[in-house]
Amino acid sequence: MKVELLNVGWLSSPAAIWRQGEPPEAQIRFPIPAYLIETEDERILVDTGLHPRAVADAEAYYGRPLFALEQEQEITEQVDVDTLTRVVLTHLHFDHVGGLPLLPVSIPIVVQRREWQAGHDPASVQRNFFTPRDYANDEREVILVDGDHDLLGDASVELLLTPGHTPGHQSVRVGDGLVLGADVGHFASTLDDHRFPSFADDFAAQARSADRLRALRDAGKRVMPGHDPDVLRPGLVLDGTSGAPR
Ligand SMILES: [Zn+2]
Repeated sequence: MKVELLNVGWLSSPAAIWRQGEPPEAQIRFPIPAYLIETEDERILVDTGLHPRAVADAEAYYGRPLFALEQEQEITEQVDVDTLTRVVLTHLHFDHVGGLPLLPVSIPIVVQRREWQAGHDPASVQRNFFTPRDYANDEREVILVDGDHDLLGDASVELLLTPGHTPGHQSVRVGDGLVLGADVGHFASTLDDHRFPSFADDFAAQARSADRLRALRDAGKRVMPGHDPDVLRPGLVLDGTSGAPR
């Protein structure tokens, strides 16, 4: 099993939006990752990054302004998307699902049922800053899961329900040693200091999810943060069949 971190782009904004307690004048620029999990039979994309049209003009694309965005390389330039077997969405924020319309509609997506429902509920959409254009294509097969889920039936890849940031946020355990935490914590330190973004669907739930990932980290797993510029580097994060972190 192999896992590669791809950097799709960058987001720049006041730092306090993403980590409570930062000085109001501080700015941050952080990467927007996606991951490619390869097994003998599967090529699974975890999240999809930004849509180039959103990067070019978010207000025109989404109908409202967004943060300053930069494209590193859109997902189709980094992955042979025709060979993907499925796409796991950690959650429905634009920096995770924005690239979905670039992928062939034959590739199913796997998402938590409560996230998908929130993404189709107008009040929840507004509360969570979802941009439904990203996931509006109804030709694509949507596989809805409830809670923790053994994705391939062999315990090698497990979806972990880690709500709070959004209603049905999920993380992904790969092998014995790696957890793609996504936006439970934008930064590695978030698992300890709980300095979450200034917005959340449910801060208490997010704190419990952070505690869950912290326990996995303390048990020896490598937990990838959502957007930590000091931690996330493109390249292999898991290489080989042993499941051991690289
Ligand atoms: Zn994010």
